[in-house]
Amino acid sequence: MSTPSLLILPGDGIGPEVMTEVRKIIDWYGAKRDLQFDVSEDLVGGIAYDKHGVPLTDETMAKAQEADAVLLGAVGGPQYDNLDFSLKPERGLLRLRKEMDLFSNLRPAQCFDALADFSSLKRDVVAGLDIMIVRELTSGVYFGEPRGVSVNANGEREGVNTQRYTESEIARVARSAFELAKRRGNKVCSMEKANVMESGVLWREVVQEVHDKEYPEVELSHMYADAGGMQLCRWPKQFDVIVTDNLFGDLLSDVAAMLTGSLGMLPSASLGAPMENGRPKALYEPVHGSAPDIAGQGKANPIACILSFAMALRYSFDQGAEADRLEAAVEKVLAEGLRTADLMGPEGGTPVSTSQMGDAIVAA
Ligand code: ATP
Ligand code: MG
Repeated sequence: MSTPSLLILPGDGIGPEVMTEVRKIIDWYGAKRDLQFDVSEDLVGGIAYDKHGVPLTDETMAKAQEADAVLLGAVGGPQYDNLDFSLKPERGLLRLRKEMDLFSNLRPAQCFDALADFSSLKRDVVAGLDIMIVRELTSGVYFGEPRGVSVNANGEREGVNTQRYTESEIARVARSAFELAKRRGNKVCSMEKANVMESGVLWREVVQEVHDKEYPEVELSHMYADAGGMQLCRWPKQFDVIVTDNLFGDLLSDVAAMLTGSLGMLPSASLGAPMENGRPKALYEPVHGSAPDIAGQGKANPIACILSFAMALRYSFDQGAEADRLEAAVEKVLAEGLRTADLMGPEGGTPVSTSQMGDAIVAA
């Protein structure tokens, strides 16, 4: 097999700082595990605008289409707030997602034991939590037509959005959830509002059909999304993989995120259709943004970006055992009490900088 390729787009703000720590880990894999990646680096966001006048060039877009995986830091910053809409740093990221057709957004909610007291819930409810929310990312009510604000026949203003899902859109995100479940706890819970929404009725039917035809060995359940939100807060460990639409996924993944603590800990993956090698097109990125308030001060927590690379190891590079190794190293340094500023709670800990955290994870 040829060396797998990884395109790194550090972006703006703390993006380059956290990516420096990921580079240390990639170097470690090359030196100590003989795991080589063909790494290239390019610009996205404000820094691309500064150099090229656009937040993503066609050349970078083409590289992203060809790479086995893309790892992105963060984009944006206050200095770009007054730019024309089409030139804003965020448009670079949106173009990547759209042109790579990344329809399946994976947001794990994983609670490291050492941080269980950070949760809004009791330690017992969250310690050891490891669930994955799969959100449909390219369709549904955020994109459906017709949409807009207009004056209706009664002379009143009216705001309209349309929730619309086709069979194939539901089936492909369902498949991505079942595939994930096979590599995890073999359990999928699908959430919609089939009791009040037609798109929910179809959602439930299609997920069930894909299950029965292609994944009968995976355990499937259905839940109304409002009840799902309640269950996530009451007893999150009952879930393994949750698959849901764009709107409900937006809400439920934020709820799930807060079960586990800091924004500085949360990775994500956005996956598209399978490429020639059978792996999906993929963009990995931390959930957090460019955090201009702490940029350049060595305060950023690199763990969200490091865990995003762990997801790349697992889902793009077929290196599940190495992803486990990396997550175990993160767990170990947290258990030893190392804390970037965002993780510093009432129980204290050893304060570390961005690079000290990265070095400690490499050592672990
Ligand atoms: P965006 O619009 O790009 O999502 P945002 O303004 O919503 O950005 P962030 O840039 O993620 O949010 O920052 C939100 C807060 O969380 C800030 O106070 C920031 O300092 C903090 N924060 C975000 N990421 C990290 C990190 N990796 N380590 C430490 N603190 C972080
Ligand atoms: Mg934000």
